[in-house]
Amino acid sequence: MRKPLIAGNWKMNGSLALLERFGSALSGSALSDRVDVALITPFPYLVPALQTFRDRSVGIGAQTLNPAPDGALTGEVSGPMLQDCGVRYVLAGHSERRTLFGENDQDVSMRVTAALAHGLTPILCIGETLEQRDANRVEEVVLSQVTTVFDTLEPAERHRVIIAYEPVWAIGTGRTATPEQAQAVHALIRQRLAEYDSTLATDMRLLYGGSMKPDNAGELLAQPDIDGGLIGGASLKPDDFLSICYAAG
Ligand code: PEP
Repeated sequence: MRKPLIAGNWKMNGSLALLERFGSALSGSALSDRVDVALITPFPYLVPALQTFRDRSVGIGAQTLNPAPDGALTGEVSGPMLQDCGVRYVLAGHSERRTLFGENDQDVSMRVTAALAHGLTPILCIGETLEQRDANRVEEVVLSQVTTVFDTLEPAERHRVIIAYEPVWAIGTGRTATPEQAQAVHALIRQRLAEYDSTLATDMRLLYGGSMKPDNAGELLAQPDIDGGLIGGASLKPDDFLSICYAAG
């Protein structure tokens, strides 16, 4: 039985005041232990977020890392630093990193490997553009994004990854994949994982991301292969985020 994960990706948004509001909203909520909850904040808010949720009821995640452990890389943050602070998750391959910062599959793979090497749980983000969907290339694109990373990992490492399927055309656009569209791609990913190892397919949490909101979360999360959500816009509003968490568990 896979435990759903609802992870809020604040992107380059938020403030200490917002964190405080999340602290009150989530701590005072009736969140069940049937769902894992994570907040993925900008770097400056990681340590305050870890203090706010020092009971570990909410896992804290970073939005990226540099694959090197240390060095003359001004502005970058490494896996050992995140581990040192108590961060649990890190995104790799978010479509904004791929398109705005030029990260290719190789860069993404290095980040996943670095995260695993430093005890972090990578959330590997994959997904096709609208052009690729219209050209019937969803399966090819998405499965190649999975295999480029998974082929380089040891069997035990693969089990420590979470995948988020995020169709690029649905991110921040208000346009959501239908539950059927999302389920179809999740099922394909799970089939591909089964080729590595059948328990990998049954155990791995596959999140959906792309304009998930309180009013569509229920039907997306009801799909058999969708095990949670990576939430952008709606993760900036404590009430909306909580509603999605409730829908998951
Ligand atoms: C995201 O950034 O991962 C995301 C899914 O954003 P949104 O929910 O705003 O589409």
